[in-house]
Amino acid sequence: MPPPAACLFDLDGLLLDTEPLHAQAWRQAAQAFGTQLQERQLLQLRGRRRHDCADQVLAWIRADGRHCSSREELLAVRQPIAERYLPLAAPMPGAETLVRRCQALAVPMALATSSSRSAVELKLAPHPWLALIGTRVHGDDPGLRAGKPAPDVFLLAAERLGVDPRCCWAFEDSPAGAQAAAAAGCRVFVLRSDATNSASFPAGAMLLDSLQQVQLDAG
Ligand SMILES: [Mg+2]
Repeated sequence: MPPPAACLFDLDGLLLDTEPLHAQAWRQAAQAFGTQLQERQLLQLRGRRRHDCADQVLAWIRADGRHCSSREELLAVRQPIAERYLPLAAPMPGAETLVRRCQALAVPMALATSSSRSAVELKLAPHPWLALIGTRVHGDDPGLRAGKPAPDVFLLAAERLGVDPRCCWAFEDSPAGAQAAAAAGCRVFVLRSDATNSASFPAGAMLLDSLQQVQLDAG
């Protein structure tokens, strides 16, 4: 396999173990309105932008016969919960080594995340090695039209690095994110977890049980 022109990394659940914390924050926010979210619903929220998740959770709360006036009301309840949890996220096994290996091999890197700029800063602060990824596309990026599962996040990340997305390796953990990367034409690597074991991923995606399995210079 030829080496990548660049590596495009998802953040949540891929480089940092934030997904259980995000899920917990959505669960508690919905609970504040009287709705109990199920595991399959929490899985659907993975990899998607905060506003897209909020619209979905709002719909579930209303379908449950509960009252929540707006996306903003829901996010106002969730925000302080998320801010408490997210700085606690640990790196995923092998993540720091992979990023440092890209750096050592001069493989360009970009963060292609659904997370907003402020949320990314909150999560990155305890992990100085993530500053090695200098190029970023955020979920609230002014240059971004549609969030994952649309391909735009990966297309914009490749464009900012000046590389062809079809020559990039994209690393994802969520069904929505993997779909976005495949639609952008990237070679897709999916980090599986217990939560996504039964999920379906795009045909041709390379499934990983750990980032430690990635070989950048195997030839
Ligand atoms: Mg993810």
